[in-house]
Amino acid sequence: MTTDHLRKQLSRNGVVSTAPDKEHGSPSAASAAPPQEQRSPDELARLAETAGRELEDAPALEVLRWAAGTFGRRFCVTSSMEDAVVAHLASRVFPGVSVVFLDTGYHFPETIGTRDAVEAVMDVEVITLTPRQTVAQQDAEYGPRLHDRDPNLCCALRKVQPLEEGLRTYDAWATGLRRDESPTRARTPVVGWDERRKKVKVSPIARWTQQDVDSYIAEHGVLTNPLLSDGYTSVGCAPCTRRVLAGEDARAGRWAGLDKTECGLH
Ligand code: SF4
Repeated sequence: MTTDHLRKQLSRNGVVSTAPDKEHGSPSAASAAPPQEQRSPDELARLAETAGRELEDAPALEVLRWAAGTFGRRFCVTSSMEDAVVAHLASRVFPGVSVVFLDTGYHFPETIGTRDAVEAVMDVEVITLTPRQTVAQQDAEYGPRLHDRDPNLCCALRKVQPLEEGLRTYDAWATGLRRDESPTRARTPVVGWDERRKKVKVSPIARWTQQDVDSYIAEHGVLTNPLLSDGYTSVGCAPCTRRVLAGEDARAGRWAGLDKTECGLH
């Protein structure tokens, strides 16, 4: 996909102006995008297939420009508030972009603090999704500490279901998935088709390494969860997250000792 092609597409959808950006020599961001027409699943799948091919080697900002320009307000970023890298990248090309956060009720206080800081200082709209039941209501129905006895059910109730419902008004969502995080993420496409939800799934930093992330955070002063400086390399719910040991992969501290490696969102 050429820069000219991208620029025309973005201009058509009202996401960016056609004036070159001084810093990057590419389109500069406009402050708001109009709502986009809802597309059919077939059309979305075709878009995902084409963009997946054409943007596989594109820089993260170009991928996000495409997503913002193609989907406008029907595009959002999801964030676990481990860090705000993808939210920061997206806000550079789409100021006011929706950043969806799942508040499971089991987060570390540091994670909630990161969410609040992102909302306060970044040009994004943070949207907090909550499960249908509070932790107390879930305990009353399923018994306490469901996460110890049936973590898949707990994740389904507190993560998967709220995200399904929260993503209904979007056609495309961005994640911070990276191929180097774990073997299960090694084939993450930059742009792919989320068959389960019938949405375009964008992972603009899929090809980044941890060093790329660290450099971006340092260069741009991006907000990070304080737990990343306290032995955690991946931050999830408090009952299911521990610090990692030397030599372990970044997600080894999640559901440690269990067969489970993903929460079911991806
Ligand atoms: S990560 Fe643990 S506490 Fe959080 S939703 Fe999943 S099982 Fe429940």
